[in-house]
Amino acid sequence: MPTYCVNRDEQSTGEHEVHDLASNQGCLPDERNRFLLGYFASCAGAVAAAGRRYDNVDGCRWCVPACHTR
Ligand SMILES: [Zn+2]
Repeated sequence: MPTYCVNRDEQSTGEHEVHDLASNQGCLPDERNRFLLGYFASCAGAVAAAGRRYDNVDGCRWCVPACHTR
């Protein structure tokens, strides 16, 4: 199962992006900015978990495209 993290820093557009820690696409935030979400069977679960911490969350367009909505 993939391990997900969410960026503690928001994007210029205001959302906190959820990333798959196994990503090799150069999109992961700096280690100090990663809040570990844990293992999820799908990105939907990870985005929901991130949503309990931040109001505005979205999947990374590169490593979590299935949950990228904006
Ligand atoms: Zn990513």
